[in-house]
Amino acid sequence: MAEITMEKITSLAKRRGFVFQSSEIYGGQNGAWDYGPMGVELKNRIAGAWWKEMTQFHDDIVGLDAAILMHPRTWEASGHVENFTDPLVDCKKCKARFRADQIPPENLAAKKCPECGGELTDTRKFNLMFKTHIGPAEDTASIIYLRPETAQGIYVNYKNIIQSNRMKIPFGIAQIGKAFRNEIVTKNFIFRTCEFEQMEMQFFVKPGTDEEWFNEWRNRRWAYYERLGVKMDHLRWHQHGPDELAHYAKDAYDIEYLFPMGWRELEGVHNRTNYDLNRHTQFSGKDMQYIDQDNNNERYIPFIIETSAGLTRNLLMILCDAYDEEQVAEKGNDDDWRTVLRFHPSLAPVTVAVLPLMKKDGLAELAQDIRKGLKEDFATDYDQGGAIGRRYRRQDEAGTPFCVTVDYQSKEDNTVTLRFRDSMEQVRVPIAELAARLRQEIKAYKRIK
Ligand code: ATP
Repeated sequence: MAEITMEKITSLAKRRGFVFQSSEIYGGQNGAWDYGPMGVELKNRIAGAWWKEMTQFHDDIVGLDAAILMHPRTWEASGHVENFTDPLVDCKKCKARFRADQIPPENLAAKKCPECGGELTDTRKFNLMFKTHIGPAEDTASIIYLRPETAQGIYVNYKNIIQSNRMKIPFGIAQIGKAFRNEIVTKNFIFRTCEFEQMEMQFFVKPGTDEEWFNEWRNRRWAYYERLGVKMDHLRWHQHGPDELAHYAKDAYDIEYLFPMGWRELEGVHNRTNYDLNRHTQFSGKDMQYIDQDNNNERYIPFIIETSAGLTRNLLMILCDAYDEEQVAEKGNDDDWRTVLRFHPSLAPVTVAVLPLMKKDGLAELAQDIRKGLKEDFATDYDQGGAIGRRYRRQDEAGTPFCVTVDYQSKEDNTVTLRFRDSMEQVRVPIAELAARLRQEIKAYKRIK
């Protein structure tokens, strides 16, 4: 098993058009990345899988797309203006900047820079929210924040959604969108960035039932990753200790993934209590209580169970999880090593590539026709350049689960070769049955390595 490093992932991501450094021609913008043709497809598919899981499979969850810019009082109510801070220290000598909780405690105690040994400043609190101005005057009245989490857009809309969609507790609201944090340290590629996307679902429950729902959502989120075909020995739970719990949380568990740099948070499942809705009641003066019409109009402020996953961090996880290098059968060949991305077929940017064995003798035309027929149902690619083995390798490296090869026999008996990325096995399939066969293979897909 080849070692997976962040360098390999970053370089493949760039080479194959998954992720580029933002503003690269100007030396790059720290904490920001651009998703290329393959990356945007992969990101959309991950978002789609999550959305389907959270909305289509649950009658009691609906979607929302709230604005990034919210009334600044929102962030006072949520506690972010006061509490959303990281402890920051600077090295007076080399000017490096660190999160005080991420350097060895002995360095912090001795005020000694872990990189150059220079003197560190005192620790100070640094608010992670990006602040800007709205309107023509840059005064304190025009301050506005870029949202640091998508959750608040859901909370301030929860009564609108109850009224417009006749939702009854327990129910959930799902949202995917951008969030912004002025992170002090942004290393490890797209793991921690200043601009990122979140996939959050907030589930509103009756106080007293919150612990039960918390456990239920922990189980559901675990099962979700299992269904996506993620290596389950690379996932684990981490419960927040009392010093890690956010100001609003009663209980919190992270799903951690074993990234190349070690175990890191992938998603959080939080019992946020009724903290946020209470605070919005206080700060807005609006009644945020739920009225239970099926239960003598009983009124209460619901508790909220949150599942909060990074979409872009999920993309990094999927890339790392799928990455493999292996020696293939054709020994003595220059090409006998292959890099392969073992994406679940439902996530792969390209599902099926159609490859004519030769350009001539009508094979290219037939291949184009076959591709046209598949386009309605699948993301397709077409490649006629170079030796067939090379073309398979190119598709393997992009994570394409199926290749269809059109050869001379195809012209005679209307069959093609269907080649599987993971096993590299090939079978002969009638062209007329190709789409149905692919659908069946996607549904039955089981990861073999
Ligand atoms: P961390 O401890 O890694 O800073 P957090 O505990 O502050 O994360 P949450 O506020 O719970 O994270 O955010 C929920 C999810 O959003 C995280 O599990 C992660 O997947 C994603 N996320 C948070 N911050 C970032 C970031 N700066 N870049 C990319 N994804 C992020």
